[in-house]
Amino acid sequence: MKPVRDHPVLYIVVPCYNEREVLPLTSGLFVDELKGLVGKGKVSERSRVLFVNDGSGDGTWELISQLAQKGPWIEGISLSRNRGHQNALLAGLMEAKERGDIAISIDADGQDDIGAMDEMVDKYLDGCDIVYGVRSSRDTDTAFKRGTARRYYKLLSDMGVEVVYDHADYRLMDKRALEALSQFEEVNLYLRGMVPLVGFTSTCVYYERHERMAGSSHYPLKKMVSLAVNGITSLSIRPIRIITTLGLVISLLSFIGVIWAVVVALTGGAVPGWASIVAIVCFMGGIQLLSLGVIGEYVGKTYLEAKRRPRFIVSERTYEDEGEEGEGTKREGGVDDGE
Ligand code: UDP
Ligand code: MG
Repeated sequence: MKPVRDHPVLYIVVPCYNEREVLPLTSGLFVDELKGLVGKGKVSERSRVLFVNDGSGDGTWELISQLAQKGPWIEGISLSRNRGHQNALLAGLMEAKERGDIAISIDADGQDDIGAMDEMVDKYLDGCDIVYGVRSSRDTDTAFKRGTARRYYKLLSDMGVEVVYDHADYRLMDKRALEALSQFEEVNLYLRGMVPLVGFTSTCVYYERHERMAGSSHYPLKKMVSLAVNGITSLSIRPIRIITTLGLVISLLSFIGVIWAVVVALTGGAVPGWASIVAIVCFMGGIQLLSLGVIGEYVGKTYLEAKRRPRFIVSERTYEDEGEEGEGTKREGGVDDGE
């Protein structure tokens, strides 16, 4: 399918979880940006902002429904329960794939520079299928977050996972990239690692990241660590290879140790070696448990993938869901891994 390069229908996909405080501020900005793009003749006037309510408990869905009633620019879908950012985002993208020609995903909190969409659309019109929004600086982050982020990107690339440095989930994808993404059936989602695997022509657009406009972050350290671990274990099996290598090296050392022990015993120099034995037993015990844990992580993932549960279930839409049979009843992925 050839991408529509002339007046594409743009969907701005915004996952929202308990964003009641920030939506009244940012929804207007998204709509202004969209109107601006329509006014400049870059996108079709059928373009929309699509809010995805991810099982919020603070009245976010009611707010989205009200916004949708006010004018044609805003649409919303609601998931049957909270499924986490990545699943909510995928739900929105799959909806946008059916309804539009291109989709830009962005967080609800106004941290990412909404104005960068202009340049994203330009790049699309120039022939790119995927445009990554990349932060030009991390000034608004704490030194801790900056440091851990840098080390994490390094770790990801050491593990063979290809990601775009300093790119979160602010990106433009066109229909054929979304179609391709929909064929990735995994339930352990790490979109920023999956999208580069889709391929096609891609480029980056740089922007400043701001503070959240209102409300508070839904990514506490625990969720961040969980996403980070998922990033590696969903896209790379190198940790298991490292264990194998470690096992080989330790086996070799043990072999040398046994020869050494036999030689010492035969030459009559054996002394009560309590400390060394305890040290070796503890060390080996630790390595074995750690290795089992890492392998267990993959076994668990395989278990979750094998169940092939839906990744999200749409319960409501602010518009008639034409053609839902077929597409909507098709498996749309996912397991809540307790994130
Ligand atoms: N989000 C979501 N489901 C969740 C948690 C977060 O849809 O379970 C959305 C949230 O509404 C926001 C985006 O994901 O639009 C990013 O979350 P947040 O801004 O809290 O994360 P941070 O920017 O602090 O990493
Ligand atoms: Mg945020």
